[in-house]
Amino acid sequence: MIILIDQDGPLADETARLFEILRERYPADLSRHSGVRTQFTLTDNFPAHLSEAIEEIRRSKGFYYSFPPVAGSVEAVNEMTRLGHRVYICTAPLSHYEHCIPEKYAWIERYLGSDFTMRIVPAKDKTVVRGNILIDDRPEVEGILEPEWEHVLFDASYNRHITHKRRLNWNSWKEVLGL
Ligand SMILES: [Mg+2]
Repeated sequence: MIILIDQDGPLADETARLFEILRERYPADLSRHSGVRTQFTLTDNFPAHLSEAIEEIRRSKGFYYSFPPVAGSVEAVNEMTRLGHRVYICTAPLSHYEHCIPEKYAWIERYLGSDFTMRIVPAKDKTVVRGNILIDDRPEVEGILEPEWEHVLFDASYNRHITHKRRLNWNSWKEVLGL
């Protein structure tokens, strides 16, 4: 099976890192925050006056490389590969790609090894990429084509309103995918 895995969300914990930075820089705003990301669009989770600062953080050098790996993700990717599946990292880079793209590659090399950098597919529109399944935390993955893959949700607090798709996490993936 060809398994496409989104990078931010399933593998790299962008949410945790963003909360960490915002707590340091805007402690008063963040002290009133539940600490839960309820919206997929990052800026929608925080007071509007922080939106500009959040966009600046996302574009800044070092941000994408600094994401902690999601617990169990590296082991799951290695296990899928061991089971004979062809795994690709299918990631939509920021339009401000200057730091984002090289740091996404460096992140994959750091946690999954240099061979995996040859299996990164940067795509703003993931519907043009072929595969059997796409594991992605985005509630709806849309584009110009009817996708060939099945979108399996990577379970997150901000996508639970989607009830018509299979969902998994790194404890349940084998069972959900029947592997
Ligand atoms: Mg994602």
